[in-house]
Amino acid sequence: MPLLDAQGILRADEPDVVEVFNPKGRSEFVLVCDHASNRIPIGLKQLGLTSAELQGHIAWDLGAAQVARKLAVHLDATLVLSGYSRLVIDCNRPLVSPQSITPVSDGVVVQGNVGLTEAERAQRRDLFFEPYHQVIRQILDARSSQTTQLLSIHSFSPALAQEGADTLRPWHVGMSFKEKPTLADHLYQALHKNEQLCVGYHEPYAIDEEFDYTLIEHALKRQLEHAMVEIRQDQLMTESQTSQWAERLFEALQ
Ligand SMILES: [Zn+2]
Repeated sequence: MPLLDAQGILRADEPDVVEVFNPKGRSEFVLVCDHASNRIPIGLKQLGLTSAELQGHIAWDLGAAQVARKLAVHLDATLVLSGYSRLVIDCNRPLVSPQSITPVSDGVVVQGNVGLTEAERAQRRDLFFEPYHQVIRQILDARSSQTTQLLSIHSFSPALAQEGADTLRPWHVGMSFKEKPTLADHLYQALHKNEQLCVGYHEPYAIDEEFDYTLIEHALKRQLEHAMVEIRQDQLMTESQTSQWAERLFEALQ
């Protein structure tokens, strides 16, 4: 049950801000899904967005949580999922980033994030961002004598309004890493063998200290092998598609 905060953003009957799936997983992989949920706490009144806007890619990584859960089952891996939307506070952005609590996302004004006070920003940090990363930290601390590889599962929009909605991004999947290429290279080579797939290398996103947080904070600081996997969202629309991607990633990790 979430902590009740003084201002009533989170109610006692709302879901936890962080979920640990398969906590006793025996795999050397630990999975994280920063953008698993599009949930906005009731107290934040949808941040002024419509329900349709909250179903879209600005609020979450569509399909990523399903792939991550299924992959965690295949691997018998522990998976950490964020329980609330990236629009509340983005768990994969440094707190100093203008996109941490973004007032605009892909051209959509997020009214509930406009003109926040420092106290309101700190409250979001304390209620959503810190608990998520604290759980990842505790899991990695407890495994400090084991080999661990950290795999971050994301999905990306086939087209961005700001890039022109007609411009389809070509990659089906992309891999990124920072400084430690082993895992990302392995995944890239394995997926690249499938001629049907356009596989990105540091595409659609490279990992950058300015914009990324999770792998910088948890993998690089501990010198863990790691990779960020980005799957294009139009391939994650059905159960069978998310199952196929989970199996594909599982095979590629062998
Ligand atoms: Zn993401």
